Amino acid sequence: MLDALFKPKAVAVIGASAKELHIGNQIIRNLLDFGFKGSVYPINPKASEIRGVKAYKSILDVPTEVDVVHMAIPALFVPQAIEDCGRKGVKLVILNGGGFSETGPAGAAIEKDCMVRARQHGIRIFGPNCQGIINTDPEVRAYCNFTFTRPEPGSISIVALSGGVASLIHQAFADMGVGTRLYASNGNACDVSIPEIVQYFGNDEKTRAIVLYVEGLRDASRFLEVVRKVAAKKPILAMKAGRTEEGAKAASSHTGGIAKQEMATDLIFEKAGILSFRDEAELCQAGAVFASQPVPHGKRVGVITNTGGPAVIATDALVAGGLTIPVLSEQAKEVLTNTLFPEASIGNPLDVLATAEGKHFRAAMDTMMDEDQIDSIYINFVTAPFVDTESIAREIVEVNRQQRKPIICNLMTDKGQWTETVRILKDGNVPIYDFPGAAAKALAALARYGEIRRRKTGKPKLFQDVDQWTAKTIIEQAQGAGRKTLSAAEVYGILNAYKIPVAEWRIAANAEEAERCAAEIGYPVVVKADSGSILHKSDRGGVAVNLQNGRAVRAAVNRMSKRFDAQDLKFLIQEYLPGGKEIIVGAKAEEGLGHLVMFGIGGVHVEVLQDTVFKLSPVTSAEAQEMFCSLKATPLLGAVRGKKGVDKKGVTQVIQRVSQLVTEVPGIQEMDINPIIAYEDHVFAVDARISL
Ligand code: ADP
Ligand code: MG
Repeated sequence: MLDALFKPKAVAVIGASAKELHIGNQIIRNLLDFGFKGSVYPINPKASEIRGVKAYKSILDVPTEVDVVHMAIPALFVPQAIEDCGRKGVKLVILNGGGFSETGPAGAAIEKDCMVRARQHGIRIFGPNCQGIINTDPEVRAYCNFTFTRPEPGSISIVALSGGVASLIHQAFADMGVGTRLYASNGNACDVSIPEIVQYFGNDEKTRAIVLYVEGLRDASRFLEVVRKVAAKKPILAMKAGRTEEGAKAASSHTGGIAKQEMATDLIFEKAGILSFRDEAELCQAGAVFASQPVPHGKRVGVITNTGGPAVIATDALVAGGLTIPVLSEQAKEVLTNTLFPEASIGNPLDVLATAEGKHFRAAMDTMMDEDQIDSIYINFVTAPFVDTESIAREIVEVNRQQRKPIICNLMTDKGQWTETVRILKDGNVPIYDFPGAAAKALAALARYGEIRRRKTGKPKLFQDVDQWTAKTIIEQAQGAGRKTLSAAEVYGILNAYKIPVAEWRIAANAEEAERCAAEIGYPVVVKADSGSILHKSDRGGVAVNLQNGRAVRAAVNRMSKRFDAQDLKFLIQEYLPGGKEIIVGAKAEEGLGHLVMFGIGGVHVEVLQDTVFKLSPVTSAEAQEMFCSLKATPLLGAVRGKKGVDKKGVTQVIQRVSQLVTEVPGIQEMDINPIIAYEDHVFAVDARISL
């Protein structure tokens, strides 16, 4: 219940100071200047008033109920002040000051003490070490915050732990003429959490989109669970920073080496349906479109321009953002030929010329709006001194008001001179940008969101033919013996239990046995050195392929016996499978989250190629299909030059079966099947590793 926080009726400030350059003083000023609809109570043992508002010696002296108490006092005094708040029946405390867990163990102890006391009194804590909240709703006007921006009411709500970044986003929206609805920056977030705030914003009717900034996720699985539900209702635009820290630790196997730590956050965003950004300016610029524009039905853009070059830049940027610029219908061309100047260039981009007036722009926009094959409109508008730019702006606003398809506008002007034109566009809620590329990226983000909305992820399929018990037993036995890796026989046993097809194999102890096994399997065969101490076999001469007869098998075994002096050395004799495509499927446990499941181009060059894609388990059928389709080399897996493509159904099944295995059998830290040899109607695993 965060209503007390975002819609307080009475706010007190413990540590309200008469000194102007003090947080306790600024919060009172902000509440007053912003026109807070509730009561403000400065608490100060010495002052009789602060900024003209009657002050009280103690929170206990305040005559009415108090929803929110700011504490702008040293950390050391906070626990006692929380006790007082408890006696007063305060619902929520905003701890603005620092000196808590962010400073080290001593501060962390105070923070914990505060939490314990707050819990006893049923008080929620916001912060510590935080800015606070803002609610611009005309009925509330709560500025429980010490930041500097003065937002207009709007439809975007912002949440971030970092006050600095939250302010930056906030100010950027203000500069673009986009208001803010709710704003929350909760610092150390020892109690009220990011997911809780996102959920609250999700339920706030007047919040149209949510902007989120994080540096990491504390409780990733709860975040995913909560935020996913919100994202299903309204757009969440998020940025994660702190990306340069290399999470890759020394790789014990391929999957581990490739899966960087930060990838988990990206995958959580993806699974939750969050629109993710890597650049704060892009995030803010996209936010401005979400504030006013409908979501497009597709990726096809109509470009209207009254200047040449910027349309070229815009076209490049739109296409780079995954959008398309379709040709116009004959009917549309005819209408435009009859309405625009004869010199206008009729096409897409549509150049209406710098001399175009409002009516020409209007005809261009109306035509694009009527075109079935166009989903959104991009406008380049240079304010030529020889035309009535205000009437052009009014036409754009008029069309924007219809909300049929999204419109964005790259406005090229001197804002100091063309003030009225700028004002008309801003007041008319037309998202305007200073650069064609920025406008194009913002539109691309909106289209990307449209795709997220339309995607069908479905539920993970549970294969009923698996033998969970056998897989569990194999793993428990290895764990019982204190082993961290499984032998080839154990690994193949698990693959078998999960109906992941493997090439026929036997284990042999010596050359004689090897030859017998080879004869059973049928030539040609492969011989591999099998030992817990040999990780990448082929690098060390531990793989001999295409052996045609017994003599070759004996020779390979003898050679490997000499090369490796491992105690546990055995030989894997395997059916030789020539001519298929090599792929990799793997999984890696992610603390508190489940597993990352990987698919990619496999073989011994997997690290060099780095053509892999990850998803968070459990992987649904739709997600497995998407994985299959999203490699750089996916075209090579399809039909090429008269050859049929690989067995897509077989591959996506292996991905889903691996996902099911790691999800339902506890203890698998990391696994990879590399390679799986894929043919047009079959797939076979020929090498796999599992670590616990
Ligand atoms: P490692 O990964 O430990 O080096 P692999 O068993 O993956 O050993 O073998 C290395 C390479 O040898 C594979 O990528 C594949 O090209 C080839 N290979 C291995 N087993 C077979 C097989 N049964 N049939 C055909 N080629 C194979
Ligand atoms: Mg291998």
